[in-house]
Amino acid sequence: MTSRTAGGGTRVDLHTHSTASDGLVGPAALMALCAQAGLDVVALTDHDTTAGLAPAAAALPAGLTLVPGAEISCRVDDGGRGISLHLLAYLFDAAEPRFRAARARLRESRVTRAERIVALLAADGHGVTWERVRAVAGGVVGRPHVAQVMVEAGLVGSVAEAFSPRWIGAGGPYFAGKDELDVLDAIRLVAAAGGVSVFAHPYASRRGAVVGADVVAAMAAAGLAGVEVDHPDHDPDQREALRRLAADLGLLVTGSSDFHGASKPQGLGAETTAPEVLSELLARGSGSTPVTGTGPGDAGSQEQHHDDEDGGRS
Ligand code: AMP
Ligand code: ZN
Ligand code: FE
Ligand code: FE
Repeated sequence: MTSRTAGGGTRVDLHTHSTASDGLVGPAALMALCAQAGLDVVALTDHDTTAGLAPAAAALPAGLTLVPGAEISCRVDDGGRGISLHLLAYLFDAAEPRFRAARARLRESRVTRAERIVALLAADGHGVTWERVRAVAGGVVGRPHVAQVMVEAGLVGSVAEAFSPRWIGAGGPYFAGKDELDVLDAIRLVAAAGGVSVFAHPYASRRGAVVGADVVAAMAAAGLAGVEVDHPDHDPDQREALRRLAADLGLLVTGSSDFHGASKPQGLGAETTAPEVLSELLARGSGSTPVTGTGPGDAGSQEQHHDDEDGGRS
């Protein structure tokens, strides 16, 4: 096992996915992988759900700290163009009714939308069934699950090919959109639930559209705490531009792997967040608290998360 403190000190990865959404590793197994990767702190940020938090907390290896989180599907109207973007929410109270209801609506819409994609494929004679997609998605359903079934059915050679504009990628014949929260509303919802928000991978929009600095300024005015600058999808120029923007707007700078398992190249801890930035986020979030493992994978004593967030209706 890698030493937790070798060289760079505390290692913090604030963006990971489990099978509660479109990650390939279950939440408990993910915590073990985090310890093996030498992480000290990890945030579990599944898409539109907190369902993985309780099983992750219950399986924490000694010394590993779990920061509760979620990655929220959002949209912004930037000069007449609707742009999809992702908001990382941390340390919110998962039971707070308004934000909780908003997450439930997002998950419900993901089901409707995945069914529509399957129907579009079936209408053209492509053998993808909703039953199979539902079975492959252990929790919140996403296009990666549809893509996986398309690979199984031999329609495409890879998940990446499924995401191309020829298939279910943005603008493709089998693409369908899903409900998304207005990002300013989402930032306020997170804050009202005691949480803090960080703009996830601003340059990694799969629609190829990037929001302008004015949008980020509006997000900052609404209460955004930080920007995820160091992300595997960002090149050095993009990171530099984001670092300047964050400095201008007084936003914290985070870094994270956005680990999904073998479906993406990056490993856990591929990008990390400075411990001082983590301290600042922890100081600003009051809706829930991090949990630190006290024994070999059995830190379930501080049960405080609600695990009734499933993948939507089935
Ligand atoms: P959805 O949220 O259902 O629209 O699906 C988008 C999600 O699919 C993103 O958040 C990524 O996690 C994942 N994704 C996007 N492009 C790819 C790709 N080429 N290969 C694997 N996963 C992808
Ligand atoms: Zn994902
Ligand atoms: Fe994302
Ligand atoms: Fe993500």
